[in-house]
Amino acid sequence: MSNPQEGKTLKEQLWDPVAGFGVTFRTMFKKVVTEQYPFEKQPTAPRFHGRHQLNRWPDGLEKCIGCELCAWACPADAIYVEGGSNSDAPDGERFSPGERYGRVYQINYLRCILCGLCIEACPTRALTMTNEYELADDNRADLIYEKSDLLAPLLPGMEQPPHPMRLGDFEGDYYRGTFKAAGGSSEEATS
Ligand code: SF4
Ligand code: SF4
Repeated sequence: MSNPQEGKTLKEQLWDPVAGFGVTFRTMFKKVVTEQYPFEKQPTAPRFHGRHQLNRWPDGLEKCIGCELCAWACPADAIYVEGGSNSDAPDGERFSPGERYGRVYQINYLRCILCGLCIEACPTRALTMTNEYELADDNRADLIYEKSDLLAPLLPGMEQPPHPMRLGDFEGDYYRGTFKAAGGSSEEATS
């Protein structure tokens, strides 16, 4: 059996094995970069693409008009929308200004790649993205978010739909912003 040290110089026999630990010793005194997630959560970049949000007008009505443009823009086919009709009749219901609202709204986070094309397509800024990134779950069904999971919370001054338009007589008043904010600005509801 051959001697593994055979043919090696004295430096190679004595110094090189010790030098290998130099990397270990140097690293021991460097600043630790390991992130202790989930015990310590780091803030995201302000424009980080996280979970979606369906926004409201300052009176609480929904901004979504059920047009499906977000669904058509999605490259992953992750959005499903069914529109419904608003009505001001005594037995009718109004969820958004204008004719239509998003009656069914789902985002499948098993498919979504958080690219943001859907929010670019939305004509009313109903759909935006939050900084929330904790979207893992232990079953497939819970990763299909329903409208109730995505709707922005009601802020002070907002009223749970269905209810009539409170900020103007026509949807144009909402879209042009020619209304007096009730309780908070529309931008507060979209952040
Ligand atoms: S972020 Fe991209 S993949 Fe996700 S729903 Fe929107 S368009 Fe589809
Ligand atoms: S979120 Fe925007 S693009 Fe999607 S259906 Fe609603 S209004 Fe249309």
